[in-house]
Amino acid sequence: MDCVALVVAAGRGTRAGGDLPKQYQSIGDECVLRRTLRLFAGHPSVTAVLAVIHTDDSDLFADAARGLPKILAPVKGGASRQASVRAGLEALTPLAPETVLVHDAARPFASADLIARAIDAARRTGAAIPVLPVTDTIKQVDEDGWVTATLPRPALRQVQTPQAFTYWALRAAHTAAAADGIDDLTDDAAVMEWAGRLVSTFEGETANVKLTTAADMERARAATQPAPGGADRVPTWAELPDMRTGTGFDVHAFDAGDHVMLGGVAIPHGFGLKGHSDADVGLHALTDAVLGALADGDIGSHFPPSDPKWKGAASDQFLAYAVEKVRARGGRIAHLDLTLICEAPKIGPHRDAIRAAIARITGVPEGRISVKATTTEQLGFTGRREGIAAMASATIRLPAEDTP
Ligand code: MG
Repeated sequence: MDCVALVVAAGRGTRAGGDLPKQYQSIGDECVLRRTLRLFAGHPSVTAVLAVIHTDDSDLFADAARGLPKILAPVKGGASRQASVRAGLEALTPLAPETVLVHDAARPFASADLIARAIDAARRTGAAIPVLPVTDTIKQVDEDGWVTATLPRPALRQVQTPQAFTYWALRAAHTAAAADGIDDLTDDAAVMEWAGRLVSTFEGETANVKLTTAADMERARAATQPAPGGADRVPTWAELPDMRTGTGFDVHAFDAGDHVMLGGVAIPHGFGLKGHSDADVGLHALTDAVLGALADGDIGSHFPPSDPKWKGAASDQFLAYAVEKVRARGGRIAHLDLTLICEAPKIGPHRDAIRAAIARITGVPEGRISVKATTTEQLGFTGRREGIAAMASATIRLPAEDTP
């Protein structure tokens, strides 16, 4: 039941003004694209998020996506919107999701309910788009601006994204359209219509506007101004009286290789660590500590090792996911403490880099992150240099009205 969100962010957005493409301009305390990515990355029914970006925007994208869970390596877009979506669909071939949601980066205000409705509708009908009734009268005009027809309003709809489809059907329609030299269709429903497929509709949202002009950007900035006491404001410590501690423990065995990932840092070593993901024993222990403090399962229940999707995965997304869960509960992380247990490699020279990496992944200041190391005096499996163990604790603070 996989559902991947494909976020189309390759446009230049010149009508919005400013020095940067509109999807990288900020509204509130983050850029438009980060807000859009967050909608999908934080949605329980979305398994992964793939952005299609412009070739020049790799660094801007890395900043926009930093620390968000479920984000795949971005794909470079094509010369038209249609070509960009096709590139994204082709890149999803190895994942072969059941459902794909195609969404404009410039629509950062879609709700979680809208995303759920889109997935539901696609699973029922194979192709579904969000629509709103047209309230203005719509005229057709000729090249000189003379009215040639008044269109029948009851039969007209404004169309939004996310548009939702059975993945293989949308991919097949895109491939066939491109093979026929069609490359300028403006939405994915039009590609399905061109391929002779039925497209259903579901209720869109008036708030789900597409930011296009400089005036749209100004309105969006006003709408995201954090009101004093508003939902997006970071709570003060005094407002978080419910203090909880979780612990985590993890072990990975040495394997052939030339480096180990420890706390988000690649450390050169005569061996690697064996594991389904990148085997970062430190980040795994920290992830379990944060999930433990939330009493919300463990890393294996959220990221099953049986799922091929996590093969070789960078473990920073596991920790970022757990941290986002704390934020979603209205809480903050007060302290993280990690102990790495091994005879080698030496951790001391890398301690500051590891603290900085954990700070970057979690958004927790380095003064609240401790990294320690010890050996087991050559006793036990770590003493025999068979692997590395890690233990961690996380202290989090939640609002008083959280679980009694
Ligand atoms: Mg592990």
